[in-house]
Amino acid sequence: MPNADLVILGGGSGGYACALRAAELGMSVVLIDKDKLGGTCLHRGCIPTKALLHAAEVADSAKESDAFGVRATFEGIDMVKVNEYRDGVVGRLYKGLQGLVKSRNVTFVEGAGRLVGPKTVEVNGEQYTGENVVLATGSYARSLPGLEIGGRIMTSDQALNLDYVPKSVIVLGGGVIGVEFASVWKSFGADVTIVEALPHLVPNEDEAVSKALERAFRKRKIDFSLGVRFQSASQDDNGVTITLEDGTTKSAEILLVAVGRGPNTEGMGYEEQGVAMERGWVLVDERLRTNLPGVFAVGDITPGLQLAHRGFQHGIFVAEEIGGLNPAIIADVNIPRVTYCEPEVGSVGLTEAQARELHGNNVAVYEYNLGGNGKSQILATTGFIKLVQVVDGPVVGVHMVGARIGEQIGEAQLIVNWEAFPEDVATLVHAHPTQNEAMGEAHLALAGKPLHAHA
Ligand SMILES: Cc1cc2nc3c(=O)[nH]c(=O)nc-3n(C[C@H](O)[C@H](O)[C@H](O)COP(=O)(O)OP(=O)(O)OC[C@H]3O[C@@H](n4cnc5c(N)ncnc54)[C@H](O)[C@@H]3O)c2cc1C
Repeated sequence: MPNADLVILGGGSGGYACALRAAELGMSVVLIDKDKLGGTCLHRGCIPTKALLHAAEVADSAKESDAFGVRATFEGIDMVKVNEYRDGVVGRLYKGLQGLVKSRNVTFVEGAGRLVGPKTVEVNGEQYTGENVVLATGSYARSLPGLEIGGRIMTSDQALNLDYVPKSVIVLGGGVIGVEFASVWKSFGADVTIVEALPHLVPNEDEAVSKALERAFRKRKIDFSLGVRFQSASQDDNGVTITLEDGTTKSAEILLVAVGRGPNTEGMGYEEQGVAMERGWVLVDERLRTNLPGVFAVGDITPGLQLAHRGFQHGIFVAEEIGGLNPAIIADVNIPRVTYCEPEVGSVGLTEAQARELHGNNVAVYEYNLGGNGKSQILATTGFIKLVQVVDGPVVGVHMVGARIGEQIGEAQLIVNWEAFPEDVATLVHAHPTQNEAMGEAHLALAGKPLHAHA
């Protein structure tokens, strides 16, 4: 006999979103987590890192105040206080989330769960069987072979708990998490070096954006080595030294390992119960069904983008699917992505290279330079919004770089997901003076009627 309509293993973005939506749809829900409700995003990911990035922006504003005629002095970072501010933000959201889950009558069970039957999870010696089961156990910070985490060598989990600003840092990995930490530490006064094996920082982004970020980081004196692989690392009381495959060595006070995140699926009984997996990832079809009937998987344990809002969307999707609402599928490529370093990077849809692979020469691109945007001038930021369009067709990609530009992702994702033509967007009004105007201007230009831009 099932104990509930839905049993969810993992209470992170994917799991709790599924629980909330399923409860809204009238299902009885058991939500199991061995740690705090909210998962990586709330406690060790999105929220705490963005709080640090905001503190970094405040520090930069103080340092650069003179350029705006404001007399202020930057005296330094009180990391204990920064952490208090961050923990306050996390704490308030955590409390709110606990209240939300309770108010929807979701049964939250604290403890490490294990799949002991295709639709049964065992936790604290009790078994919970669901009509349907959702696997949502998330991801963990990976390391490289021979690179042991400990002491001065850390992942984002330990880096978030530092109560001091290191004098110098090597960041291994120039992806989203790597560049965000690099950006924070640089603003806080550390010497920062990034090592990335691929040819560019944020290598999954449109190449033009990667190159612009590299220029901006160079200007900020964030050092980086691209296209070179890590070989080994050693640490002692004075610091950590890494050797790269080209023989060069680099030393710093700490080493942040930000080389990606792996699926958190080991030892949870998935394989024993016959869940189809590949290299630890739980395989799902486009409706997030595993190979076992009535067993779904959401969020970071499924191959693809590792983003909290993808987890939310997966969770909601599965609840609605079970509820018979036949929800629409959102392809990973059309999920908005923001990297919150300074300057920010935002994108949705196909990069120019991906569009050309799909559509050959039938692709038009336009880059609107933020130099022509009033608000960006006021903020003293540079950057651009790049549009990728199928000729005479919809905009299939929006790629942006610049201070605060991530906030523009909202309209960008509507444009791409609603398959808008440049002409559709060009007729809409964008408020002045905002950075959002740059979105309008880019579409005006692509529609053949540029305003504050050269044809
Ligand atoms: C430093 C950092 C910064 C990030 N910044 C952003 C960002 O700005 N924006 C963004 O969109 N994404 C960001 N992410 C990614 C985001 O945090 C993840 O994509 C998201 O948390 C995935 O949600 P999830 O539900 O799949 O997994 P998780 O949030 O990892 O949740 C999984 C849950 O399962 C629980 N669990 C695991 N095993 C068991 C078990 N056996 N029994 C019971 N419970 C178990 C865990 O305790 C955890 O609470 C960031 C990640 C990191 C690490």
